[in-house]
This record gives sequence, structure tokens and C-alpha cells, in this order.
Amino acid sequence: MAGKVILIRTRCKKCQGKGSISHWAWKVAYEECSSGELTGDWIKKNFTKIPPKEVKCKECNGLGYTEEWENISQLKKYIDEAERDKVHDSLGKKLGMI
Ligand SMILES: [Zn+2]
Repeated sequence: MAGKVILIRTRCKKCQGKGSISHWAWKVAYEECSSGELTGDWIKKNFTKIPPKEVKCKECNGLGYTEEWENISQLKKYIDEAERDKVHDSLGKKLGMI
């Protein structure tokens, strides 16, 4: 088993798995403009055309997830730690420590 690796796919934290995020200009529009629209001088000053509302997430390159290879023995360590924490938490609750 030594040396074996598996591919782990993790949901992208930045876009929450959507693969796209709001364009920053629209965030500004929603936060600062009462109408929530990008119009007039602000657009002319900052853009040559109105930007799309959603753009590809750069963190995951639009996939909605990231992938990494993980060694199986390392993975077993993570699982053991998680199990230990769970037991620790439930014991702590029983004893009124948490
Ligand atoms: Zn993403």
C-alpha cells in the first residue's frame, strides 16, 4: 500500500462549487449604488462596456473544485485524527466540558 496515492476533489471555497463568482464591479454596484445597477459615468470611467455579472472563478479555473493527490497513509492519519476528535468532543460533552 505504501506509495499509493488517490485524487481528492475538494469543493472550491471561493465559489462554493459554482465555478463562477460575481464580478467585483457588481459587488460595488450592489453595495454602493442604491439601484444596484451599473450605469452612467461610473461605467464610462471604469469600463469600455458593461461587465458580465458572473465571471469564471480563478481559484478553481471554473471547475467548482480543486484536486490534489494524497498519499493513502497520510489520508488514514487524517481520518484517525478526525475520529479521535469526534470521540474527544462527545466525551467532553458527556462530562460537561464543552
Ligand atoms: Zn472556484
